[in-house]
Amino acid sequence: KVRVRFAPSPTGGLHLGGVRTVLFNYLFAKQHGGEFVLRIEDTDQARYVPGAEEYIIECLRWCGLNADEGPHIGGPFAPYRQSERKETYRQFAEQLVKNGYAYYAFDTTEELEAMRAKLKTPENPSPQYNHAARLQMRNSISLSAEETAALLEKGTPHVIRIKMPANEEVGFTDLIRGHVQFNTDTVDDKVLLKADGMPTYHLAVVVDDYQMKITHAFRGEEWLPSAPVHLLLWKYLGWESDMPEWAHLPLILKPDGHGKLSKRDGDRLGFPVYAMNWTDPKTNEITKGFREIGFLPEAFLNMLVMLGWNDGTGKEIFSMPEMIERFSLERVHKSGAKFDFEKAKWFNHEYIVATDNDKLAELFLPVLKEKGENASLEYISKIAGMIKERCHFVNEIWDHGFFFFQQPKTYDVAAVKPKWSAEKTQFFMDWASVLETMSDFSLETIEESFKQLATSMNIKVGELQLPFRIMLCGGKFGPTVFNIAETLGKHETIERIVKGLD
Ligand code: GLU
Repeated sequence: KVRVRFAPSPTGGLHLGGVRTVLFNYLFAKQHGGEFVLRIEDTDQARYVPGAEEYIIECLRWCGLNADEGPHIGGPFAPYRQSERKETYRQFAEQLVKNGYAYYAFDTTEELEAMRAKLKTPENPSPQYNHAARLQMRNSISLSAEETAALLEKGTPHVIRIKMPANEEVGFTDLIRGHVQFNTDTVDDKVLLKADGMPTYHLAVVVDDYQMKITHAFRGEEWLPSAPVHLLLWKYLGWESDMPEWAHLPLILKPDGHGKLSKRDGDRLGFPVYAMNWTDPKTNEITKGFREIGFLPEAFLNMLVMLGWNDGTGKEIFSMPEMIERFSLERVHKSGAKFDFEKAKWFNHEYIVATDNDKLAELFLPVLKEKGENASLEYISKIAGMIKERCHFVNEIWDHGFFFFQQPKTYDVAAVKPKWSAEKTQFFMDWASVLETMSDFSLETIEESFKQLATSMNIKVGELQLPFRIMLCGGKFGPTVFNIAETLGKHETIERIVKGLD
């Protein structure tokens, strides 16, 4: 049975790349009738940020990518928070030491710094704790068994490090990249268990993927360099035949293609990088998210699935069932995917246009209330239908249609002044009286009476439409003017004409 996992560290806002990882996991699991596990990797106490776990769960809920097992819902492999699995990891770390694959290291921070300073050369600017260095340090390899036992007995602070073999080739077949090979010299003797008894990511990820029976592990390409450590751990722990298949997903790149997209790029270029608003608990600073700027979750996911994947047909719009049906790892690119905010907006626009007007009205109502206005869903729905074609975001219904909810505060007088005449004033006064008597205030009757009166007064219809628009909206914008009038209704239209004539 296919079992996948999303294993975020709760360190802050969830980057869109993280959501894409969730999405690929989710699609793959659903496609294979498998299970999707959420596991919180919170073993790094220094980087732990309160609230981040709840935030991640809310992001998944907003996107509709709900996990089948996780810290918030439990499951057969609970607990799903690594900090609550602490005891498990120590036991395996000790087992590795016993079998000669790992060792105790007692070095203090000063000793580590001294080693780096001593071994530092221009060719080797950041010396590693590896097979060469380890012999000069204080650990259970360089010390005698008695010395080690004595130090442990005394409770000397220590870590457990993996004993990376010197100059060995290790490799595996990545589902996206094919065969990947590493020389063990590229990796240092990574810490597996820290002085505080917590495992590092390297140990915890292997133990948990094993114990939680994960069959496929998808993660960002930035983890590829750690793969040799994980491979060896699977082997050293005797679990090699249960190792999941790995897929390292392509990076999401800055719009110019130079480097990984970071939160700072978003701040600099004025678009969000996080899925939802993130409030830093220390500074209370809010970083904007896709949800809050008005993305529909379906559009957000559709945009994400196309970052690094396509179905080969040129099709760009995919519903969730279509994504589940068509997604394939074979069609995920190896190279990074450039993030293009304009394209992201295009996706949202497509979804807004395809969304039912009543649904848009529901989504827009809170925005309207924030502006201090109110209206019935029926009324908003009608307006949404008229202007959604112009909107990239739900809240743009306000930008393109605010005049439906409030009378103009200013008028573009300059646009009509030069051609104004007493005749035109007369026209609007007369027409307002005509409208007053109208029992059927419909698009046809409004337009008919307007044209009739204009003709009888010998004024060109074209010359009256712009002033009428400015009376209703305040400026040269909005949908067809008679549609606006019909939507505003008889009373409001007349009121605005009278006010506009002032
Ligand atoms: N905790 C890691 C992260 O924050 C997970 C990497 C993995 O999926 O193996 O990205």
